[in-house]
Amino acid sequence: MVPPPPTTAPPNPLEQPLSDLRGMTSTRLQQLQRLGLTTVRDVLFHFPRSYEDLTDIRPIPQLSAERVQTTLGEVVEIGGRQLADGRTIVSIVISDGQHCLEGVWFNQPWAASRFRYGQQLSFSGKPKWYRDHWQMSNPRVQHLDGLSLGKSPGIVPIYPLTEGLRNDQLWSVMRRTVDAQAANLVEILPAELRRRHSWPDVHAAIRNIHAPKTVALARTARRRFVFEEFLLLQLALALRRREVRDRRKAPILKLTPTIDTRIRRLFPFQLTGDQARAVSEICQDLASDRPMQRLLQADVGAGKTAVAVYALLVTVANKHQAVLMAPTEVLARQHWLTLECYLAHSRVRRLLLTGGLSGRQRRVALAEIRSGQVDLVVGTQAVIEEDVQFSKLGLVVIDEQHRFGVGQRLRVRKLGTDPHYLVMTATPIPRTVALTVFGDLDTSIIHELPPGRQPVKTRWIVAEKREQLYARLREQLRAGRQAFVVCPLVEESEAFDLKAAERQYEELKEGPFREFSLGLLHGRQDVGDKEKVMEQFRSRDIDMLVSTTIIEVGVDVPNATLMVVEHAERFGLSQLHQLRGRISRGAVAGECYLFANPTTDDARDRLQAFTKTTDGFKLAEEDARLRGLGEFFGTRQHGWGELRVADLTTDREVLQLARKDAIALVAADAGLRRPEHAPLRQAVLQRYGQTMELAEIG
Ligand code: ADP
Ligand code: MG
Repeated sequence: MVPPPPTTAPPNPLEQPLSDLRGMTSTRLQQLQRLGLTTVRDVLFHFPRSYEDLTDIRPIPQLSAERVQTTLGEVVEIGGRQLADGRTIVSIVISDGQHCLEGVWFNQPWAASRFRYGQQLSFSGKPKWYRDHWQMSNPRVQHLDGLSLGKSPGIVPIYPLTEGLRNDQLWSVMRRTVDAQAANLVEILPAELRRRHSWPDVHAAIRNIHAPKTVALARTARRRFVFEEFLLLQLALALRRREVRDRRKAPILKLTPTIDTRIRRLFPFQLTGDQARAVSEICQDLASDRPMQRLLQADVGAGKTAVAVYALLVTVANKHQAVLMAPTEVLARQHWLTLECYLAHSRVRRLLLTGGLSGRQRRVALAEIRSGQVDLVVGTQAVIEEDVQFSKLGLVVIDEQHRFGVGQRLRVRKLGTDPHYLVMTATPIPRTVALTVFGDLDTSIIHELPPGRQPVKTRWIVAEKREQLYARLREQLRAGRQAFVVCPLVEESEAFDLKAAERQYEELKEGPFREFSLGLLHGRQDVGDKEKVMEQFRSRDIDMLVSTTIIEVGVDVPNATLMVVEHAERFGLSQLHQLRGRISRGAVAGECYLFANPTTDDARDRLQAFTKTTDGFKLAEEDARLRGLGEFFGTRQHGWGELRVADLTTDREVLQLARKDAIALVAADAGLRRPEHAPLRQAVLQRYGQTMELAEIG
């Protein structure tokens, strides 16, 4: 029998390679590829960075200084000269027959090559009266060949460019592509939505992006696409939320007064108000048969571990297994030690599962987990990666979620049969990020610090005061306190990091801190060595710990109240905040000293903000404002690709709008099954179906 021919979907014209486009040279193709543009769709969605309004078009005699104007003429002179100070200058004169305007380019000898005598051009820029004629430096040039003189270039989109590709050349590719291909774009926004927000349809909008009549039209068009991008993401999150919560079952884990009393007795302190509220939100989730999907945000040192322990113990009390996962072995061990303190008098059967176990120990451990002999497991991501089998898994707690992407969260879910799920982060998250990267989670927040905490004193020290600072540190170390010295991240390379830290360690050990015991901690050490150093630091055998940023998260040594950060300008605000969190744990006020040589205003602002407040939530917003949200939203952080059009920092308000609409849409039409929602549904599946496992939304 002859097999039937494979059914192929009609090719999508937007996925065509650019080589199919008319008039595309191989040089141009290479340039576009460097910009990451390989298909027609890529080109259409390569949006301008900004627009220049060149509608103020005037004859040469009517030019006036100090605002952007456009004027037209014919090239009558192409020249250049060298200035007394050695700079070269390219000079192009255009004329309307009577008057002249000179365009000048400094130190760009190649600038002359694009001009020919007799060309009809427009120059746009701020004119300046120079000796006896008008001059513009670095004017924007439009070739008007084929256009009638007197026609304005209008609003010129300014694109992100690559070497060898000029804006006008790219603009011309854009216009050709829009003319030939815009009609192939499919409208996915339902008409009702567009009406409500007064947005143009997709065809008009794409035109207004690349060839707008006014800047206002371009802006509205961009907003529309930003909205569209956010809407797809929010719909995906809403659908995922619904999928996980409404369709899967988790064990019902009830909190009884007896259990509550038993757990509270284990803590040597009373829960703070915020902790108690978080606990009650979590317990409400656990008592339902819908899997909890909750994010617990706490400022550094606010005590989220206690909240996690509470939830773990509620689970165990309900005869289910619970697992606590940390991002590193050092932290897993730290959690283990904390648990050991809390559980000293408890019969909970617990196990630390790390890479340190021998093959045999590991096999035994896994068997015990599988058979249900173990109630509580502490470990690293390895617990999810290696597909450990649980007999009755009720709760997964993940510490430092901002290091886990959605992809990893999914793997967690596959662990057993639908556990409840609590993720914790000590990095306060700006609200925009909470709504996107973590948009499928409910959140609980702990602001309040436990009573009796002294705020850390933070000082930015000038290099000349180093000796003075060291004298102060020696005094403090002699009084029995301990110190961290943190060395910077050098170009994200661990090898460099290590060198910097090693050098610092040797210098301090041989020099100003000879009389003390120093330790070195860095990412390249194996787990055993790290753990040994940490243990020595905890037991005060080490007075001063020199380290790379691996102490950033979670390490808890209350007697360590001093910290020196080298090259603090190389750290982000959140990172600095995490670091400082290490010395805010005891009753003695911590002291944090920064050495920094900021070279940018942003870095200076960052450091200044940091010395002024210890509120992590404030710092996170400030960080987001200063650096954009890339750090949170980078590809490393989540599994589902970058935003193409939207900018989380500037488009927050559109994000809120899209989120509201997405929730309303899913509430009204749960699976987006109505015909008018079909294109939307398809777009969501296409973009997020795989990464968010939405395959069978119904
Ligand atoms: P983080 O949120 O940074 O993980 P931890 O859970 O490690 O904070 O708690 C920081 C410190 O505060 C720990 O030493 C812990 O014992 C202590 N702590 C937590 N909650 C309270 C509380 N309610 N009262 C007093 N101390 C507390
Ligand atoms: Mg912690």
